[in-house]
Amino acid sequence: MWGMDTSVYKARLEEEKAKLEGELASVGRKNPSNPADWEAVPQGTGKEPEEGDTADNIEGYAENVGILTDLEIRYNDVLGALARIDAGTFGTCEVSGEAIEEDRLNADPAARTCKAHI
Ligand SMILES: [Zn+2]
Repeated sequence: MWGMDTSVYKARLEEEKAKLEGELASVGRKNPSNPADWEAVPQGTGKEPEEGDTADNIEGYAENVGILTDLEIRYNDVLGALARIDAGTFGTCEVSGEAIEEDRLNADPAARTCKAHI
């Protein structure tokens, strides 16, 4: 994709990344020993569960784990797309190596594959 103008996609991805970080911070926190990883926290506490607690007896914790898991998947897709922009490989299908259709990238700038390999 030589000469492809990625600036619009980059702006959209940066915006979504910031939004996702806000949402992630509302249900979890960054793992202190691995900043690339997020862990869920019980609703409203901003803290890890106490030892002996289970997901079932902490209000909102299990729910946050589910929300966080979905957010984290999307967040990693967005980070991956930004990394591909920096690496100059953005817009290339991970399966076939062919160009991803422009309308697919417009619908989802974090798309990793072309329409044939969804
Ligand atoms: Zn493909």
